[in-house]
Amino acid sequence: MVIECKHVWNYISDYLDDSLPAETRELVQRHLEHCEICSAILDSTRNIVVLTGDDRVFELPIGFSERLLRRLAKEIGTGSSMPRENPAD
Ligand SMILES: [Zn+2]
Repeated sequence: MVIECKHVWNYISDYLDDSLPAETRELVQRHLEHCEICSAILDSTRNIVVLTGDDRVFELPIGFSERLLRRLAKEIGTGSSMPRENPAD
């Protein structure tokens, strides 16, 4: 089973909260190993959790992932909001 970036984003807060089922956690972890965008989002989210100091009440603002992804895509230079696994040559 392969999960996409948008699924990982849904799991990130639970991932940081350590409340994902073992198999889901493994899927997310495997995705993070090869996806720099999701890794960056995870790092950013972790920083926000640390800053807020209370991950029990932490929730991503609506549109957070979308805005962050757009900024990351621009900075990384892919020019696309959806990273492709196999870019056409
Ligand atoms: Zn990803």
